[in-house]
Amino acid sequence: MAKKKQEEQFCAFCGRSANEVNLLMSGLVANICDDCAKQAYLVVEKNQKPVEKIKEGDFRLFKPREIKNFLDQYVIGQDDAKKILSVAVYNHYKRISQKTQNDVEIEKSNVILVGETGTGKTLLAKTIARMLNVPFAIADATVLTEAGYVGEDVENILVKLLQAADYNVAAAEHGIVFIDEIDKIARKTDNPSITRDVSGEGVQQAMLKLLEGTIVNVPPKGGRKHPDQDFVQINTKDILFIAGGAFDGINNIIAARVGTQAIGYGSYGKYEIDRDNLLQYITPADIKKFGLIPEIVGRFPILTYLNPLDRGTLRRILTEPKNSLVKQFVKLFDMDGIKLSFEDEVLDFIVDKSIEFRLGARGLRSIVEAVLNDAMFDMPSEEDKKELVITKAYAEEKIDKELRNNF
Ligand code: ADP
Repeated sequence: MAKKKQEEQFCAFCGRSANEVNLLMSGLVANICDDCAKQAYLVVEKNQKPVEKIKEGDFRLFKPREIKNFLDQYVIGQDDAKKILSVAVYNHYKRISQKTQNDVEIEKSNVILVGETGTGKTLLAKTIARMLNVPFAIADATVLTEAGYVGEDVENILVKLLQAADYNVAAAEHGIVFIDEIDKIARKTDNPSITRDVSGEGVQQAMLKLLEGTIVNVPPKGGRKHPDQDFVQINTKDILFIAGGAFDGINNIIAARVGTQAIGYGSYGKYEIDRDNLLQYITPADIKKFGLIPEIVGRFPILTYLNPLDRGTLRRILTEPKNSLVKQFVKLFDMDGIKLSFEDEVLDFIVDKSIEFRLGARGLRSIVEAVLNDAMFDMPSEEDKKELVITKAYAEEKIDKELRNNF
């Protein structure tokens, strides 16, 4: 039987047949000719958002003291970290605003913050970005892998920044990236050559160029790179990278080093060591020993630490920051016309519970939520109740109820 003549194909836009055009590209349900594809491209081009250039004067250069004063409004304690970070940020943006390059090239001042989880590392980075009004993105180092392996390519760090900048490349190029859990990509073994360490050293290697400053092809929508994808080029030279990590176990490395040195120089008395907070003595050598490769350590020239949060600090965190938990909930109730207040001993009780459950500052929120949840459910419908005073007995009852439900 003769083969049925193939049906003639048309361009779905101009209606011309395959014979009348140079090229007809077929889609799933329709075709497009080369002329219409060109037209479509021009329309897309014309409707692209213009890439705004950062203009001179867009940055107000905040002095280190101004930066620290701003941080003080949102982050309690952590004075050493605040000071070091303020200077690093000041120098970084001073370097960017340098108009002419001469023979003195100022190097990038990427920062590593070492401190237990929940002590304010992310909060510090986020607060600085808010003050400077620059795009800010948080990247989780644990999901990163070398290109070609399962997980996210290192370039995806920049996708988030680009999104935070609303796809304004110039703004993204002056942003701040917080790389969380940098300690989790530490080399797992002391001998890097035996097997390929996909999630450890390989990622560190991939990250190197990014940290130093390079032009990266970023897939604007994220995901894996593939040849047909469009890329946006981002230069990382003026992006400030702040990394954070708990570096669990680094205390032992510090203890060994300070201990030996002290004994070595026989000067225990002169350098009194505060063994309860060894992180304050951290040096680049310690994080190298922990498993970050020397090149990475070198690209984070600034290293500082956060203190563990003691009872007093937790208590202050509840009420003092500009957007403290207590202030936030008072405002939420106020929006329903309800005056919320806490008796003093309730605040101590909340702190005690957070310490008891080893929840740190993050736990304060869940405890306050548990205490207030019933009221937040009932009171908006109870027109006659316009005031709520939280007493210790009230808080205890709600927490007991929560514990009964959860265990
Ligand atoms: P991490 O050190 O793990 O990055 P975060 O910065 O995410 O910790 O802190 C978790 C939460 O705890 C923050 O959202 C903040 O509410 C609170 N918090 C932690 N440390 C402080 C601090 N020093 N001052 C004020 N709030 C803090």
